[in-house]
Amino acid sequence: MTAEQVEQLEDTEKFTFQTEISRLMSLIINSLYKTREIFLRELISNASDALDKIRFMALTDSSALAHNSKLSISIAADPESKTITITDTGIGMTREQLKQNLGTIAKSGTSEFLAKVEGSKDGDVNQIGQFGVGFYSVFLVADKVTVASKSNDDEDQYVWSSQAVDDFVIAKDPRGNTLGRGTQITLHLKEDAEEFLNENALRDLVTKYSEFINFPIYLWSSHE
Ligand code: ADP
Ligand code: MG
Repeated sequence: MTAEQVEQLEDTEKFTFQTEISRLMSLIINSLYKTREIFLRELISNASDALDKIRFMALTDSSALAHNSKLSISIAADPESKTITITDTGIGMTREQLKQNLGTIAKSGTSEFLAKVEGSKDGDVNQIGQFGVGFYSVFLVADKVTVASKSNDDEDQYVWSSQAVDDFVIAKDPRGNTLGRGTQITLHLKEDAEEFLNENALRDLVTKYSEFINFPIYLWSSHE
């Protein structure tokens, strides 16, 4: 699903990114950074955090894993649609959490990170994760991003989508509760980032960034 499609949905709601997040995104999307591959590290790290959270919850609440007992991360590249998709069976996000975590509530590190990147000549974004805004590194390689998520705390699966730096949309996912529980992030790659669709390159990156991850990571790629 793309932002255009989500915008067409009946119950879709539009939100404005918090100002500093918007500035951060335009900086990231419009610049040519050397270390673009770090988006994968940030996504794997977020997936792993989400899996840790549901595993912890399951220690005291046996029903936490009811909708999916497997804890894992799947990464898929599709050369035809030029997308990379990363799916986890972690804690997921409710509609409200999608809105707050991905755009309307700025973390304290946002302005600090902005100042750091704007002030450096070569614009090193490698430390983005340490400032609590690692998610936005997806815009290093993608110009459209869709996040579908299902939390145990929400009856429905919701979809978040953004293709601009000013606003994003959220709607009930018309595909239904396809995830059971967890989060699926789809990156529509920029033309100059299609190198990340290459199976071997992607496998090397996944290997590189999964060293300290305690959950299985599956890599899928479609062949012509
Ligand atoms: P950080 O990971 O440092 O908190 P990020 O910008 O990487 O900052 O992510 C922002 C927030 O979005 C996370 O704190 C989390 O609440 C939410 N989030 C991101 N990815 C996921 C995911 N895969 N599953 C559940 N929540 C997520
Ligand atoms: Mg993170």
